[in-house]
Amino acid sequence: MIQKVLIANRGEIVIRILKTLKDRGVKGVAVYSEPDLKAPHVSAADEAYPLGSAAPAESYLNQDKLIAIARESGCDAVHPGYGFLSENADFARRCQAEGLIWIGPPPAAIDAMGTKLEARKIMIDADVPVVPGTEGTSDDYEGLRKSAEAMGFPVLIKATAGGGGKGMRIVNNPEEFKLYAAAASSEAEKAFGNPIIYVEKYIERPRHIEFQIFADDHGNFVHLFERECSIQRRHQKIIEETPSPGFTPELRERMGQAAVAAARAVDYRGAGTVEFLLDQDRNFYFLEMNTRLQVEHPITEEVTHLDLVRLQGEVANGFALPKSALNPVQQGHAIECRVYAEDPSMNFLPTSGEVLHVLHPRGPGVRVDSALKAGFEVSIHYDPMLCKIITTGRDREEAVGRMRAVLSEFVVLGISTNILHLQAILDTEAFWRGDLSTHFLQEHLPDWQPEHVELPDEGKAGLLLPDLVGVPDGTSVHSRAGRPGPCPPFSGWRRLSWKEGY
Ligand code: ADP
Ligand code: ADP
Ligand code: MG
Repeated sequence: MIQKVLIANRGEIVIRILKTLKDRGVKGVAVYSEPDLKAPHVSAADEAYPLGSAAPAESYLNQDKLIAIARESGCDAVHPGYGFLSENADFARRCQAEGLIWIGPPPAAIDAMGTKLEARKIMIDADVPVVPGTEGTSDDYEGLRKSAEAMGFPVLIKATAGGGGKGMRIVNNPEEFKLYAAAASSEAEKAFGNPIIYVEKYIERPRHIEFQIFADDHGNFVHLFERECSIQRRHQKIIEETPSPGFTPELRERMGQAAVAAARAVDYRGAGTVEFLLDQDRNFYFLEMNTRLQVEHPITEEVTHLDLVRLQGEVANGFALPKSALNPVQQGHAIECRVYAEDPSMNFLPTSGEVLHVLHPRGPGVRVDSALKAGFEVSIHYDPMLCKIITTGRDREEAVGRMRAVLSEFVVLGISTNILHLQAILDTEAFWRGDLSTHFLQEHLPDWQPEHVELPDEGKAGLLLPDLVGVPDGTSVHSRAGRPGPCPPFSGWRRLSWKEGY
């Protein structure tokens, strides 16, 4: 039985994992880079150890150091969180070789799903539909262009080792092809050390639908329903929800089975996510499998009442999945908004700086997975995601309404965030109708700019604070500065009760 876990990550995910460990009476060990000395994930842990300087290679990606800390602190298991080393099969193997339990899938499954081309091959063999696509190459751009032409433009050039939307280029006509292919390949080489690219048919106006899956050592494979992740900026998710609006039980069944087949094909264990594109005609195609816990896992937890980190621990301990996971129930509706340290008026450039004040929203149906606190310096070295706000309701209308309310209660001073943008999305009529696609932002908010909000400087923030904290109706800086848009009427909204359709 796992007694003490090293969490090889930083920020909100460490705090999230610690929560489950505390519930289970298991000790949690955190690590930190130099600039993270005062970070909330450090004080939340039972013990914390320094890694090195800010650069990820010196800190959160430093395998030698992480393993040494796990051993010296007497840990018996390692949880990698997401990002960083979570999909690094070598690190998983090294942990296991040191006698540490890896709270993640078998290294062979990570490898199998590690490159998009390899994963596509395995899926084709398993009869899981994939997006029509080509073979890979690092330099035969002319050959690739010919295959693209046979497929018909537009096409999407993708890096086989890609992730986080990097190494991807949409190409609309053959003339542009070579230029984009070279750019995608060199971007992939820089980001992932792998220049191999290939081409996929570009699916028009798709939805991104993914399935949470789980497997144990006793032959059980289940899916824990879908997550709708179509609201994206630069191919990166910003708002996720479950159930997917307008989904049918029949589609859920078909896609869920395909997700489970994908997991079986690589002899998967633990938590994973199978991502699909769903086209306008309701055909779905495998995109990739993420062999780890996902940023957006909380919405699944909210509607299934399962603790996914606890399930990961149980599977890692060798237990079978409990009945509650083998016969999961999807109840109510949950939505997540990702709050990023970005400047929307500067084309969403990641920002840094000291957090002067934070007031997290609270209340029934509100969950905040955050590592924000006053005095903490947001650094440019790491992912700009600051925290996640999750709201749950009996139905979509209640969950989304609640999200709208809490976003305007959320106060972050000192750094700019994308909160106003999130609010603008929730205020569109299309969002309320559930008319979603990965092109949502281009279609509905193409030229969106934040209304000029004067961010208080340090001195002004000091003057503002007592006032703000004391505001009885939860009015925040945003609303005082005049947040955009009246609420669209609820009347145009088709009620999707959770009792319907299950
Ligand atoms: P994907 O976008 O690949 O479908 P996710 O939405 O789960 O998957 O995002 C994973 C991303 O989260 C990583 O690529 C990385 O940029 C980011 N990330 C990694 N570690 C952290 C962290 N500690 N806090 C916030 N974000 C992180
Ligand atoms: P990453 O590893 O960067 O997460 P994915 O393959 O998961 O890459 O794709 C990320 C996003 O890019 C998808 O959610 C979707 O919005 C878009 N995308 C990927 N492939 C296609 C495609 N063939 N057609 C249209 N959009 C696509
Ligand atoms: Mg993806």
